[in-house]
Amino acid sequence: MAAIYFHIPFCKRLCGYCDFYRSVKLKYMPQVVEAMHAELAAQADFLHDKTIRTIYFGGGTPSLLAPSEIEGFIEKVRSLFDCSQLEEVTVEVNPDDITAEYVAELRKTSVNRISMGVQSLDDRCLQFMGRRHSAQQAVDAVQMLQGAGYDNISVDVIFGIPGFGLTELDDTLQKILAMGVQHISAYHLTIEENTRFGRMMAKGEFCEIDECSSVSHFSWVHNALVAGGFEHYEVSNYALKGYRSKHNSSYWQGVEYLGVGPGAHSFNGEVRRWCNQPIEEYIGGVEYGSEELSQTNKLNEYVMTSLRCAEGLSLAKVERDFGTKERARLEREASADGLRSLLINDNGYLRIAPENMLLSDFVIEALMAF
Ligand code: SF4
Repeated sequence: MAAIYFHIPFCKRLCGYCDFYRSVKLKYMPQVVEAMHAELAAQADFLHDKTIRTIYFGGGTPSLLAPSEIEGFIEKVRSLFDCSQLEEVTVEVNPDDITAEYVAELRKTSVNRISMGVQSLDDRCLQFMGRRHSAQQAVDAVQMLQGAGYDNISVDVIFGIPGFGLTELDDTLQKILAMGVQHISAYHLTIEENTRFGRMMAKGEFCEIDECSSVSHFSWVHNALVAGGFEHYEVSNYALKGYRSKHNSSYWQGVEYLGVGPGAHSFNGEVRRWCNQPIEEYIGGVEYGSEELSQTNKLNEYVMTSLRCAEGLSLAKVERDFGTKERARLEREASADGLRSLLINDNGYLRIAPENMLLSDFVIEALMAF
């Protein structure tokens, strides 16, 4: 089974930390929507497996689309692919786009999962990050969606924000737990060069939190959410039982997916590919960059995605797909000084212990094949 991702690259305002591909040139929205419909139809053959299990609208801000436009994309998918086993259709929303009218219209579509960018429930923190909404708007938006019958809601939270300590973080986490959502994605703030925060940092106006605070913020999030009944199933993702993100899990399991829209990535088991951007170029004609994956690339992708997940890396799968030498290499390196204390070798699976997940990049890098 396969997945489809729609990248809606528009935002009303740019947040201080965000380096996703997005634009505030909303006047191009109708042209981009039209070009995306054409791209979807033209690229349907990219996927070998035409049975679609999940559809995801990400961005940018997909909730800038009218619900009828979202359903228009879903209908197009239904006309091109076998959707008899479609299980999950997610839309990312911003709290300030959520009104009673919007929710009522959205309920008429096939969307059955909502992912909301809450980030914090501290108004000072939201302002600092350049978010458009207030804490109350986020709480109200979740309640409106729940009131309309949405029972699979995910919220995003950011931690590790300079100037905001464990007291503010815990306050946000407790309020989010009280909302009764089913899934929480929690990300450590990272400062990228090409963002407002990056430029402030270059001028010395801003400093990332130190490593020790990073660890304590991460542990605080982990402990609070696990105590709240959530399973930590991927580095940045927590879910109540039965509510893992099927779409995002398929990326980590190497499932084929077609990404549509400016800057969107696709993968069909052999080729990884990405659409052109910016939007002015995309609407002028869709072009792709691509990379054919070698066996080494495929192994490294598996190391990277599997070790980010609670299930871990299957040594039997490595042996089956990449040979006994690679299995032996991974077992040898995993038991070397420096990694031994971070990894669990359990019943044929290598796993990073939850308390060490913050070091996952270090572990993954050390286990890569060259
Ligand atoms: S964080 Fe979301 S809303 Fe903010 S600029 Fe990035 S994509 Fe847009």
